[in-house]
Amino acid sequence: MSDSDILLRVEGLKMYFPITRGIIFQRRIGDIKAVDGINFFIRRGETLGLVGESGCGKSTTGRAILQLYRPTAGHVYFNDDGEEVDLTTIKGERLRRMRRKMQMIFQDPYASLNPRMTVGNIIGEPLEVHNICRGKERRERVQELLQVVGLNPYFINRYPHEFSGGQRQRIGVARALAVNPSFIVCDEPISALDVSIQAQIINLLEELQEQFGLTYLFIAHDLSVVRHISNRVAVMYLGKIVELTTREELYENPLHPYTQALLSAVPIPDPEVEEKRKRIILEGDVPSPANPPKGCNFNTRCPRVMDICKEIEPEFKDIGGEHFVACHLF
Ligand code: SF4
Repeated sequence: MSDSDILLRVEGLKMYFPITRGIIFQRRIGDIKAVDGINFFIRRGETLGLVGESGCGKSTTGRAILQLYRPTAGHVYFNDDGEEVDLTTIKGERLRRMRRKMQMIFQDPYASLNPRMTVGNIIGEPLEVHNICRGKERRERVQELLQVVGLNPYFINRYPHEFSGGQRQRIGVARALAVNPSFIVCDEPISALDVSIQAQIINLLEELQEQFGLTYLFIAHDLSVVRHISNRVAVMYLGKIVELTTREELYENPLHPYTQALLSAVPIPDPEVEEKRKRIILEGDVPSPANPPKGCNFNTRCPRVMDICKEIEPEFKDIGGEHFVACHLF
């Protein structure tokens, strides 16, 4: 693999939010360690699935990559036509120009579209912000985008409440596509939708990926959703990536006890296999990211915990065959 195959590289990324006390003189008394030192890369044209329970830091990771939050530490390198740019060090006009290449599709199509704006203005706004086009040209581009996402171009003057959930998410996709990005963070784009229309949005995202050569970071809270769309999958727990490998390897040979527990909850469509399968129920709650356990983050819930796990944090190791895992068992 050459460096030019890699579109995005994340190194030692940390995103801490301060906990303060006091009304007038605020003192910092600790940190919520939402993302705590993660490393991964995404190849051009691929989809990396990022999975974990709610509150594990996956959405914060997406926002910190796009610099919607400025990371506490670490680097996010983006390959801009052959030049590697560290997004954490740029600001102002340079960052604004880079933002054109990276967009986000949000989880809740009800909350993420301004109810007082027409669809034309919602999709056309980024075209004006980035000085791409105005007036008639903008209108034509918006109509073209509506068509690309499978909506009627004559809906341009309608308001979000006139659309169904699936249609609103298509509007969100069109808005993200407006500026011709190369990278899109899809932040749980189907979890607020009816099961019956989830597959339509997944299929649309796949078609668009092929048509426009897009690269996705696809965030989801359950492994069954990312299975279909991802080339590789990263599993996150309490601010850290615990396992990352190809889709096939993850589903056939999950190594980390947390991945094994998550996978045991994914239904298998074969009743015979399903009947013989053992479900791993994790005991206890996810610890607070303000006070993560010493050693391995997962040691308070791990069915295979050992003494070393309570003292020493396992390294995120490359065990070969594109398989990375952070666990003392390996
Ligand atoms: Fe479990 Fe220990 Fe592995 Fe952590 S390092 S996942 S506690 S076995």
